[in-house]
Amino acid sequence: MNLLVSAGPTREFLDPVRFLTNRSTGKMGYAVAEQAARRGHSVVLVSGPVSLPPPDGVRIRHVVSALDMLAALQDELAACDALVMTAAVADWRPAAAATSKLKKRAAGTAASDAAFQIAPDGQSATLQLIPNPDILATLRSSKGNRLFVGFAAETNDVLEEASGKLIRKGLDLIVANDVTRPGAGFGTDTNIVTFVEPGALPLPLPLLSKAEVADRIISWLESHLNPSGGNA
Ligand code: C5P
Repeated sequence: MNLLVSAGPTREFLDPVRFLTNRSTGKMGYAVAEQAARRGHSVVLVSGPVSLPPPDGVRIRHVVSALDMLAALQDELAACDALVMTAAVADWRPAAAATSKLKKRAAGTAASDAAFQIAPDGQSATLQLIPNPDILATLRSSKGNRLFVGFAAETNDVLEEASGKLIRKGLDLIVANDVTRPGAGFGTDTNIVTFVEPGALPLPLPLLSKAEVADRIISWLESHLNPSGGNA
């Protein structure tokens, strides 16, 4: 199959040197890309800024912001059979990015192109944020019969939250994990996930390495793209 994978965090700049981001290391998405390539699939990896080496045999596109990631995925979507969206996309970005470095002592004189405003007394500051697009929801209108897999990193009501996202984002599978459990979530080499599909009972998997979780996802894709069993 032709597989499109997104991985890592996004960075949302407020000036040339500062940005908002999150704890994603990209390990899960890189594992999906690497295992899929090992199993003979053709893989494009759209990656936010991470410190991992590019997996062998994978075409990689580096992006920075959520808007960059959306544009790259829109470019690549037509040629893929399945999208696995592991990226931790920032939900919000500064309403504007200042073109020069914001000054610490700019009380009451914030640049007009900046979303960052310091109070006249210099004792507080506000940063105006605007929502980023939901990438999966945006790509949904071009989904066709491609398979879309999302991730849901949760801290509470994991299955309920994941099922809501499965429906809202129109996904075929959501891989849910409770990031508060030891061995699951950000930066670890292991994960504890549950597969949630429309109309099926949730399938909890044991503690597995991220490579093993990746393998299970690829097997799921192979069997759902080509239910007769052979790999596309
Ligand atoms: O809503 P939440 O961010 O928890 O959903 C997680 C899933 O949605 C992940 O697969 C993530 O890559 C994707 N996502 C997205 N666009 C966003 C935020 C998350 O596609 N703006």
